[in-house]
Amino acid sequence: MIWIRQLLWLGAALLVAALLAYFISPTIGLVWSALVLGGAVAFNGYFLWQLNEWAVLPDKRRVPIGTGSWGLAFERISRYLRERADASEALEAELEGVHAAVDRLPDALIALDRFDHVLWSNRSAQELHGIFGTSRPIHHFIRQPDFVSFLDAGKFDNPLQISLATHPGRIYRIRIFPSGDGKLMITRDVTDQTKIDAMRSDFVANVSHELRTPVTIVCGFAETLLELELDEATRREHLESILRSSRSMQRIIDDLLTLATLEADLDQPRDQVIDLRELFAAMIDEATAFSGGRHRISMTINDAYQVRGDAGELESAIRNLLTNAVRYTPDGGAIELSWRVRDGEGWITVRDTGIGIDADHLPRLSERFYRVDRGRSRSTGGTGLGLAIVKRIASRHGAGLHIVSAPGDGSSFSLRLPASRILPPSDE
Ligand code: ADP
Repeated sequence: MIWIRQLLWLGAALLVAALLAYFISPTIGLVWSALVLGGAVAFNGYFLWQLNEWAVLPDKRRVPIGTGSWGLAFERISRYLRERADASEALEAELEGVHAAVDRLPDALIALDRFDHVLWSNRSAQELHGIFGTSRPIHHFIRQPDFVSFLDAGKFDNPLQISLATHPGRIYRIRIFPSGDGKLMITRDVTDQTKIDAMRSDFVANVSHELRTPVTIVCGFAETLLELELDEATRREHLESILRSSRSMQRIIDDLLTLATLEADLDQPRDQVIDLRELFAAMIDEATAFSGGRHRISMTINDAYQVRGDAGELESAIRNLLTNAVRYTPDGGAIELSWRVRDGEGWITVRDTGIGIDADHLPRLSERFYRVDRGRSRSTGGTGLGLAIVKRIASRHGAGLHIVSAPGDGSSFSLRLPASRILPPSDE
């Protein structure tokens, strides 16, 4: 289009030259042609020079302004540059967004070049590994020999698990993905995951251990019964042992199922209005039957309040505390189940005058299968899961489990219910 315009102008000028030569004189036509051609060369030469001047430093200089065809051409160049600037601004904004998102990732991300020098890192990597700047070898920041040999070995199918001197007590998993010439390295904090894994395998080991003794007893006695001709009294004794062990396994399985159900249930507990007087009376009757008259068991309700919660769960928690009190209190001792409201919070307490617990054990009592005295727990029908169940029920109700105890001084186990679970006294 631009060239067509120039050719049209040239054509018109030559036509004028021909007319001048024909009608006036050939000399004037020639002079006119020379002037037109000279003007065209000067005109194009000038703008070509301007274009060249600009092209030497296109980022620093403005695109020249031209007229005619050159004006059009310069306008197009300007428009193209504007569009390119807009596109690169949009790209930059997008890139900034991606950087900001990557910076918010909790995982540390590092891009390495083919010499394992840092090309780029996100904020987590800078905080975790102390990375600053670029082009420094990664082992300047992570000096652990394990890591250096992991990097040198070049086998990245499996991640490397390490602890960092800068973050004692935490465990990290480093994964490396080759990408192009370089590598992408991701460090993740797996402390919690590792603890959960350890707890899970501990738990499986504990359950197996708990079940092994009763299973061995059942198998042993059953084999004896099958293989030997026994008198009636011995046969009966063996069958009773089998029954005792089976019941013990049943209790463990029941408690495990209760715990699993409570832990799997992430919903709020049922919101029932519970009359404590009624609940306590039923619990005291059960405990009295369980004690078989060996203890003085009483209840005290200082404030006539109702509570809101899951009646079945609270009943199970109180039952566990009362049976423990009976099991760990020598004959003749006293057990009291009480309720009182203090500073707006409700306290359900089971107090006994039993053997008590050394302070060292208190923080771990509600761990699954934790026992102070394994023999006593087993011989009184314990599973080691009672307080874990109580603790879980308490936390589902937003309550705390408070234990006060000392050897020889008895114990008191309290569920401290938050004010939101307490209703004003019901009309008598
Ligand atoms: P267990 O079935 O062994 O009683 P729990 O989880 O109910 O398991 O209790 C954990 C441990 O806490 C018990 O083994 C026992 O050593 C101790 N314990 C619980 N309640 C009492 C109590 N009232 N008096 C003394 N020790 C207790």
